[in-house]
Amino acid sequence: MAEYKTKVLIIGSGPAGYTAGIYAARAGLNPVLVSGNQIGGQLTITTEIENFPGFPEPIGGQELMQRMKEQAQNVGVTIIDDIISEVDFSKAPYHCNSAANNLYCGDTVIIATGASARWLGLESEKKFLGFGVSGCATCDGFFYRGKDVAVVGGGNTAAEEALYLTTFAKSVTLIHRRDSLRADKLMQQRLQNNKKINIEWDSVVEEVVGTENPLSVNGVIIKNVKTDRTTKLNVDGLFIAIGHHPNTELFKGLLELDNDGYIVTKHDSCETSIPGIFAAGDVQNANFRQAVVAAGTGCMAALEAEKYLNK
Ligand SMILES: Cc1cc2nc3c(=O)[nH]c(=O)nc-3n(C[C@H](O)[C@H](O)[C@H](O)COP(=O)(O)OP(=O)(O)OC[C@H]3O[C@@H](n4cnc5c(N)ncnc54)[C@H](O)[C@@H]3O)c2cc1C
Repeated sequence: MAEYKTKVLIIGSGPAGYTAGIYAARAGLNPVLVSGNQIGGQLTITTEIENFPGFPEPIGGQELMQRMKEQAQNVGVTIIDDIISEVDFSKAPYHCNSAANNLYCGDTVIIATGASARWLGLESEKKFLGFGVSGCATCDGFFYRGKDVAVVGGGNTAAEEALYLTTFAKSVTLIHRRDSLRADKLMQQRLQNNKKINIEWDSVVEEVVGTENPLSVNGVIIKNVKTDRTTKLNVDGLFIAIGHHPNTELFKGLLELDNDGYIVTKHDSCETSIPGIFAAGDVQNANFRQAVVAAGTGCMAALEAEKYLNK
């Protein structure tokens, strides 16, 4: 068991965590960053990123996050591969225990634990992830210009993703397991009015199919849950839009969370309900879910932590 004492403890190694680390280290605060079980965060499960500024050619998610990690290390962030398992925010310095039985004490803490996309749990979904299966229309819609795509889900997110995809795709099929949508009425109307959108009601995805070499989706097998009939939809892409869950279990009852479990921060700030504890990235922002936004709020959190320590 080791004990780490730091002015700034950062939990999470996605774009928010690494960026917070870079700013805190360059401010001379010697931050310690705990990586968690997904080193590099969500971007490490995607193939090509075309919307992170500074990379004129698409860059792989793994490579982008490796570069952020190296940049953080180069400016002096201490990075520990460990998972925070328990936190005590009752008084500063704030104490966090870990899976490896280490104790981390931070005068300030920046929480950057992200949010996890919900997946269907199919083997074929995993196989084609990044090769036709996506969890983010804003990120990958552009790659489907003139193509046929499907979206799984029935809530506002699925409706929004389907509508967004019509900007690029030739057709969008919304696959929903029930006979009515959870999306609000206005969204439903917009879906119905859009000629590119077709809805497969009472249907679930059984399998994603495609070619092996190159790995590429060319269809999804769907089953109608009322008739048990299976059909193949010929699509080039499948977007999973069945929701996200913020990684905030550790902070329940300690920090103010919203109804969906995201950490509440003050307007135009990363300050949480406890002074000296900040939250950045997807864990405090369900609206944008983009790496550049996560990095931006990571920077904000570090600047605010510095100001707090200098008070
Ligand atoms: C398939 C896919 C493709 C995407 N494509 C794009 C894209 O092209 N462009 C774009 O801008 N965005 C994209 N996104 C969204 C982007 O990945 C997220 O917005 C971004 O990663 C959020 O960064 P974050 O730092 O807030 O959290 P995350 O990247 O989610 O990182 C969270 C970090 O917290 C750590 N953690 C969690 N719990 C603990 C714990 N208990 N102890 C210690 N550490 C912990 C995890 O290990 C992880 O390192 C995509 C997302 C997905 C799922």
